[in-house]
Amino acid sequence: MKALDELTFDNRFARLGDAFSTHVLPEPLDEPRLVVASDAAMALLDLDPAVAETPVFAELFGGHKLWAEAEPRAMVYSGHQFGSYNPQLGDGRGLLLGEVYNRAGEHWDLHLKGAGQTPYSRMGDGRAVLRSSIREFLASEALHALGIPSSRALCVIGSSTPVWREKQERGAMVLRLAHSHIRFGHFEYFYYTKKPEQQAELAEHVLKLHFPESQEQPEPYLAMFREVVERNAALIAKWQAYGFCHGVMNTDNMSILGITFDFGPFAFLDDFDAHFVCNHSDHEGRYSFSNQVPIGQWNLSALAQALTPFISVDALKETLGLYLPLYQAHYLDLMRRRLGLTTAEDDDPQLVERLLQLMQNSSVDYTLFFRRLGDEPAALALARLRDDFVDRLGFDAWADTYKARVARDGEYREEQRRARMHAVNPLYILRNYLAQNAITAAESGDYSEVRRLHEVLSKPFEEQPGMEQYAQRPPDWGKHLEISCSS
Ligand code: AMP
Ligand code: MG
Repeated sequence: MKALDELTFDNRFARLGDAFSTHVLPEPLDEPRLVVASDAAMALLDLDPAVAETPVFAELFGGHKLWAEAEPRAMVYSGHQFGSYNPQLGDGRGLLLGEVYNRAGEHWDLHLKGAGQTPYSRMGDGRAVLRSSIREFLASEALHALGIPSSRALCVIGSSTPVWREKQERGAMVLRLAHSHIRFGHFEYFYYTKKPEQQAELAEHVLKLHFPESQEQPEPYLAMFREVVERNAALIAKWQAYGFCHGVMNTDNMSILGITFDFGPFAFLDDFDAHFVCNHSDHEGRYSFSNQVPIGQWNLSALAQALTPFISVDALKETLGLYLPLYQAHYLDLMRRRLGLTTAEDDDPQLVERLLQLMQNSSVDYTLFFRRLGDEPAALALARLRDDFVDRLGFDAWADTYKARVARDGEYREEQRRARMHAVNPLYILRNYLAQNAITAAESGDYSEVRRLHEVLSKPFEEQPGMEQYAQRPPDWGKHLEISCSS
């Protein structure tokens, strides 16, 4: 285990120079204090979890202290926001403190969000509030525990610094970890500002450091783009299979690594609703739950446009064409597993689609349905779940088809059904109302609920005694929380 001053830095992005990022020092928060830390994320840096409780930890991640080897930089990028190109974005309230590598040789970006103003802050104050920092922390670690690729979060540091949103709130910082913070928007920035040399440097950097296998291919950049397409198809399939709604899929919020990135007004579905829009400011529903699939492709085409200096248009188009079939294959595979099936049949897409329609019409809780379906042998579970559906005859018809399908799937495997299904169907997810309860307590200075919720969500598939209240449908107030971008 390492002490805090033993982290080893290798600031590869900072070395690209001033065309890519600007040196900015963090603006410290008043009275910094630890709200919550993730032991699992600490382990990624070989850090002893106990150091999170030391005062110097809150000072480092509250912007008061800095390692001598850190080189804090605000990155420049642009991107398409809600379909329109915005030529100048960048880290307006976050800083890449540096890149650290662990004993296993993995590099991790240390990114401090809420660290104050930068040249890219535009009209913003450079701050993040406690509520959004807690949401990002909980979501990153919860997604990771579900097996959904995501940036990670080391800790949240709270403070007494006043920050104005719709009302006065308190400033906080979240320390985000990722192998890279490069976004689709980085490529778009150099493409649209017509800086071919820097764009080539960026592409080379990403290829060399993050897609080394593509480097071995006959056309390395095309291989890299193909990998990005594949990773995004797999990522979005996981979002859809587990009911995660990102909320702001602008191209500046899309990681080149294909991980969930830049959390804003995200939500996990409670009741299944294909048309759910989690972002209160998304009036047209551009980023509704079901739209995430075509938007994934739209975003990849925006990236493809920015890669036209390196790859032929025909090859880009052909590769983009892989997205939807790859997505569908991943999605179907996940949904089969969620249904406890171990084999594939041609009618499986209809089996899934029909179930989702029934759930939609009856506002059935998406997470609990699958969990309960695996609690007991199929016939028993179905008999119990029937009560959740308004259209009982419709459900009975589906249940008959499903039972026959399960029977064809194999007797022997049926015996292990419970363990197999519980291993892919979480009992605990980050419901908005659970996050809200933890935030309300934290805003009055009690961090125990954030910490407990984080613990519960770190083992989402394991039934945890005494934690039944985290595995319930939301109360009525908890279904209608309005989450906006102002964070
Ligand atoms: P987001 O919606 O969080 O992805 O942010 C979009 C852009 O606005 C990014 O360039 C952010 O850095 C910037 N931004 C968001 N909030 C603030 C803020 N409070 N101060 C400065 N810049 C911000
Ligand atoms: Mg963003």
